[in-house]
Amino acid sequence: MKATAEGPVKRVSSLLVVIVLVVLVLSIAALYQAISYYGSNEVGMGSWFLFLGITGVALSSYMILQTRRRGVRLPFEPPKVITTIICEKCDLKNIRDFQRGDYIFKETEVCPKCDEKMLISAIYREVKEKEKS
Ligand SMILES: [Zn+2]
Repeated sequence: MKATAEGPVKRVSSLLVVIVLVVLVLSIAALYQAISYYGSNEVGMGSWFLFLGITGVALSSYMILQTRRRGVRLPFEPPKVITTIICEKCDLKNIRDFQRGDYIFKETEVCPKCDEKMLISAIYREVKEKEKS
């Protein structure tokens, strides 16, 4: 259940890492270009590439900061509420996401093992690591 919630986020941040790396490589190349322009006394072009390189480095470090902030923001997502359903007859335990109208001791779905009605035994908020709220 956790994996489905975290999957897309991970994909986005890995894409960001690729973009940041590309920008970083390009800006380092621009800086090298600037040095070679300065070396051949073309100060105008040199400062242009220097500006490009610095902007690129600043942009990629800003993006890294953004991804870090995104990681921090994750615990502030609406907390997941979990409903535990139990079969009184065979003790089969089932855990699923909270659904509207769920309350403790409510009869819900039929037990897949013994065809008895199962009861909601607990409703709780899923505690994530480093939860601050
Ligand atoms: Zn059962």
